[in-house]
This record gives sequence, C-alpha cells and structure tokens, in this order.
Amino acid sequence: MSKICVVGTGYVGLVTGTCFADLGNRVTCLDIDENRINNLKQGVMPIYEPGLEQLVAQNVRAGRLEFTTDFKEALKGAEFAFIAVGTPSGVDGEADLQYVRAAAEMIADLVDHPIVVVNKSTVPVGTGDWVADIIKKRSSGRDLQFNVVSNPEFLREGSAINDFMNADRVVLGSTNREAANKVAQLYLILRCPILITDLRTAEMIKYASNAFLATKISFINEIAGMCEELGADVNEVAVGMGYDKRIGQAFLVAGLGGGGSCFPKDVKALAHMAVLHGTHPQLLQAVMDINRTQRRRAVYQLRKQLGSLDEKVIGILGLSFKPNTDDIREAPSLEVIHLLQNEGAIVRAYDQQAMENAAGMLTKVNLCKDPYEVADGADALLLATEWNEFKQLDFVRIKGLMREPVLMDGRNTWDPEYLRSLGFTYFGVGRGKTTR
Ligand code: NAD
Repeated sequence: MSKICVVGTGYVGLVTGTCFADLGNRVTCLDIDENRINNLKQGVMPIYEPGLEQLVAQNVRAGRLEFTTDFKEALKGAEFAFIAVGTPSGVDGEADLQYVRAAAEMIADLVDHPIVVVNKSTVPVGTGDWVADIIKKRSSGRDLQFNVVSNPEFLREGSAINDFMNADRVVLGSTNREAANKVAQLYLILRCPILITDLRTAEMIKYASNAFLATKISFINEIAGMCEELGADVNEVAVGMGYDKRIGQAFLVAGLGGGGSCFPKDVKALAHMAVLHGTHPQLLQAVMDINRTQRRRAVYQLRKQLGSLDEKVIGILGLSFKPNTDDIREAPSLEVIHLLQNEGAIVRAYDQQAMENAAGMLTKVNLCKDPYEVADGADALLLATEWNEFKQLDFVRIKGLMREPVLMDGRNTWDPEYLRSLGFTYFGVGRGKTTR
C-alpha cells in the first residue's frame, strides 16, 4: 500500500486517484476548486463517467480515498504526487502550462520528505525537466529529495475506469530508473506491459499516440469525401480496410471529425512544438485542416439541401464530443452550431448528459427535453453524437413532427435505406453508394 496524492480532480485525476485507491493504496485527491471538492465530499461527481460514482463511494467508505483543497494535508507523508491538472491550448496552439507550474511550485514549497513527482498531464516534450528545475529552484537550501517521472495517461472518457484497470500499456519516463521502478510497482497488479523510457521519450509517446489516432480519423474523413463523389460507402470501406491487422478498425470512423479535450489540443500543441524546433509538421497541419472541414461540410450539406439556412430551424442531436461523456470541450457540435447560427439558423439541441455543461456556453440555443421536442417543427435534424438513445428513435413519429424531413447523419449511424423508405431526405458522411 502506498500513500498517493493526486493533484487535480478532473477526468484524469479523479479516475486515477479512485482506481489507485481501489487497488489498495491510500489516496488523497486535491483540487483548487472548492466547490468541486465539497461536492466530492458529499458524493456528488463533478463529471459524468460511467461507474465512477459507485467506485468513489466504495473507496471513501473503505477509508482509502479522501478529498481536500489543502495542499499541505494532501502532501503529508505522500510517496507520490501525481500531477493531473489541465493543459489547455494557449493563444498560439501551445500547451498552457500555468496549472502544471502552480502544482509544481506548491509541491516544492510544502513537501519536506522524499517524493516522486509523477506527471500525468499531457505536456510538451521537455516539461519533465522544466518541472524538476522549478522544484529544485524553489526548494533550494532545503535539500528536498525528489524525482520527476512522466506517466502519460491514455484513458478514454466514457470507459475511463476500464481503460485504467485494463491498460494496453503503462509508459514511464524518467532520468532516474529507481524512481520509474517505484512508480512501476503501483501498476504491477494490472499485469499490463510497462515501458520505461527517458523523460522526453515518454512525453513524446503521448503526443505521437494522440496525433496518430487523430490522423486515422482525418484519413478516413478524406476518403469519405471521395466516396461521396465517387459512389462508394465509407463505412464499408473502413470495415474492409480494418480487417487488415496492420490497419485495424479503431478510429476509422468517418463523421464530423474528432473533438474533445485531447485530440485537437494535443495535435495543435505537437505542431506548435515542431515549428518551434525547426521542423515542418505538414501531416499534422493536414490532419487539423481536414478535421475542421468536416464541420463545414456538414453545414454546406444542410445549406445545399435547404437552400438557405436563414431562419431555418435546425435540431442537433447530441452535444458531447462523443457518447458516454458530458464533456463538450472542442465538441464538433459546438462548431457546427456556431456556423449554423452565423447563417441565421435557429438552433435547438438535446443531449443525455451534456446539457448542464452546454447551458453555460450555448446561450442562444434552445435546449430541449428529448429528441422529439428537438424534431418538433424542425427543418432538419443533425446527428452530432452517436448516443445509443439516438440509434433507435421512433422515426415515424419524428417524420410527423418535422417541418421538412431532412436528416444529416453526422456519425453514419442510421440506416439510409430505411429512412428513405419513410420519406426522409438522408445525408451521411461519405455514403456515396446510398446517395446514388
Ligand atoms: P480537467 O480540466 O477535467 O481537470 C483538471 C483539474 O485540475 C480541475 O479540476 C482543476 O480545478 C484542477 N487544477 C488546476 N490547477 C490546479 C492546481 N494548481 N492544483 C490542484 N488542482 C488544480 O482536465 P482533464 O481532462 O482531467 O485533463 C488533465 C490532463 O490529462 C490534461 O493534460 C489532459 O490533456 C490529460 N489527459 C486527459 C484525458 C481525458 O480524456 N480528459 C486523457 C488523457 C490525458
């Protein structure tokens, strides 16, 4: 059993802390957001993540997991301090490291025993060395014994607990092998491959992984554009490609493009890093361009179908960037809504979990209680997030409710032939075969 402090109780920090507690460690989760910590103390989750509420409750009851805003209390006796704070995009696409710096400074100021500082936040290559410098400078004269280990996180929102407990791999990077081995001990129980590298290599593995997955999405979206024009079906193309073990099915999914708190910001940050160090990230630029194009193309399709979008009522099904999460950061729905409103469209929307997060951002969108209220009087419906709830809608009822029976399937989830047989005008992404 180890004593662990996790700094930051967002999607990564809260899941990491809770899972480590569940594996038998004593964990204190720390955040600067008092409201968040007070809620967590009452058992109220700050995020929607399947299974998290029960796992938190279980481990709090067992006395292995607690929450605080008090850095000193959280760090007292901790052998490990995991940094899991946000690293959002800065003005130029770079990763904004202000929260990482603040966490490192607090650790430097308040710890007076040997500690391993583990960086779980996604940070530019070289940040581990930078964090070590910050701690060294701020603790000078106190002879603080510490090491920095990079331990990038690969969990996916929506299946985060399962991803943590059944990780494909754990990556640990450090200039100190002993410190990396110590962190490895925490993960041994998961029985997954553990790769130990130097600090910078570990940091790059995270960015390269996300950039590669984003590339797969943009690749299939580029193919989708061609399928649309050439009369092929991109869904079937992706399946046919994916059976090849060298390619694989995952992330070959055409649609409105990738979103979320990771892919867009990490590809941007990697491209920024590349330029800053004299290399030309041509592929990454194309990946970002194609991703943006997907949102615009959906709006183009709607405009083409409806003539003009001015004063047209467009219903959006799904707001979160993907199903099973309430996260709307960089969600394709937001950009599409913005573009539609720019052209004078009246937008209404519904999402199973993301309405609360959306309410703060989408002030001019009418947030509805269910998909049928969205459809009522709409000129078109756009499926932006493939929640299960949207897969089996009562389309006969929907057709009766809509002013114009136009469906834009931004996730290629619905059955075109069935919908056309009901009298809908159906558009998917790259489903040229069914358009012809
Ligand atoms: P988040 O925004 O959900 O949570 C960050 C938390 O850190 C917030 O609660 C915030 O109040 C807290 N915080 C900020 N500064 C702090 C400080 N100085 N001390 C204590 N708490 C502080 O972020 P997230 O989605 O969990 O992402 C965290 C990091 O993990 C990012 O670098 C992200 O890129 C990376 N990551 C995220 C995911 C994901 O799916 N969300 C997956 C892999 C990696």
